[in-house]
Amino acid sequence: MTTIFKKIIDGDLPSEKVFENERLLAIKDVNPAAPVHLLIMPKKEITSIQEMSQEDFDLLSEIIKVAQNLAIEFGISDNYRLLTNNGRLAGQSIFHLHFHLIGGRPLGPMA
Ligand code: 5GP
Repeated sequence: MTTIFKKIIDGDLPSEKVFENERLLAIKDVNPAAPVHLLIMPKKEITSIQEMSQEDFDLLSEIIKVAQNLAIEFGISDNYRLLTNNGRLAGQSIFHLHFHLIGGRPLGPMA
């Protein structure tokens, strides 16, 4: 089933893009949990981190590099959270792999 993020990647739905290259897209979260809340995703359709295969792992280092650069660009490089939810019970609602980059306020301990 086509996800919202696949439609955004394909340009069929609008988004606020903050980074894009051939393999990755980063957008602003439509319902931000903090002053800075970005979503970094591969363009390749991968359901979740648990479904990643060896051939996809290079994407992870690229995602981390993009997160570092965006953290600098958005002024949160000292305090941010980078996370992915795996599975519905962990809070995943869109089944296209994405990492949340969250910051801009004190984040406190993990729930
Ligand atoms: P998850 O719950 O799967 O870890 O994260 C999905 C995130 O996508 C949520 O934080 C939610 O606010 C965000 N989101 C849902 N629909 C849209 C949308 O259409 N556009 C954007 N930019 N973010 C979305």
